[in-house]
Amino acid sequence: MLGSRVSCSLLFAALLILSPFCQGKTFAWGDNGHIAVAKVADLYLTDAARTKAGQILGADIYARKVCMFADAFKHRPEGSFTRSWHFVDVPDSANDFDPVRDCQQGNCVVAAIVEQKQVFKDAGSTFEQRVMALKFLIHFVGDIHQPLHCSERNGDHGGNEVQVRFLGRNGHLNLHSVWDDNILGENMQAEDPEDYAVEIKAKITSQQKTAWEQEKDPVKWVLEGHRLAHDVAYKDVATTNESHNLDANYVNRAKPVVEMQIQKAGVRLAKLLNELLP
Ligand SMILES: [Zn+2]
Ligand SMILES: [Zn+2]
Repeated sequence: MLGSRVSCSLLFAALLILSPFCQGKTFAWGDNGHIAVAKVADLYLTDAARTKAGQILGADIYARKVCMFADAFKHRPEGSFTRSWHFVDVPDSANDFDPVRDCQQGNCVVAAIVEQKQVFKDAGSTFEQRVMALKFLIHFVGDIHQPLHCSERNGDHGGNEVQVRFLGRNGHLNLHSVWDDNILGENMQAEDPEDYAVEIKAKITSQQKTAWEQEKDPVKWVLEGHRLAHDVAYKDVATTNESHNLDANYVNRAKPVVEMQIQKAGVRLAKLLNELLP
């Protein structure tokens, strides 16, 4: 008994120490979102692209160490310069993407995708640079499809500063992390992200696939996300500091948006990789 009480209090202490990290700011789909996007993409890869990607990466594109590399890298001292490559803060009140206002010195997800595509294609790039470029692209095409990676309201950093409660549950979250993780969690229930990807890939119609593939400009991807942030993610969420409860109506509106954005990101990532790895 004593032993279990000691280990319980040790566990409790560990949770207390870890909790600030768990509740801290997040700036990306969580692991599940990125794995699901990359797995949807994998299902649309040509055999040639899949083989070549595997040779370059030494793993599947949906392996955690591949699709989550960019999130691990940004937390390392040598990767801190890539922190703002994961999003673009287009003001909620704007209706366009303005590179001077939104993407200073090319430090935003739009410029990062354009740049890393070039690095990958450039015959002068080293093998290491091409490996990293591919990992960046696999991650950033996911991030750019999370609506709150495309918008900000009143300087809230894509909802990171907006405290909310989720479905009336105890505990406070921020709006951004709800869109990275919790809504997707409601969609997936306890499903494995790869299985979830197979399931939502099967729901993509050929008309949707064609329409999504035709739009290749990351600026357009951002404007789509920015609109969804305005119409769904920020809709009815108070701008005051009081913690807003995201109720079942809100979550039911958000769930299909998150599912569609993951489907869309997967289709577009496959299109990009099939072109880069013919
Ligand atoms: Zn990210
Ligand atoms: Zn995020």
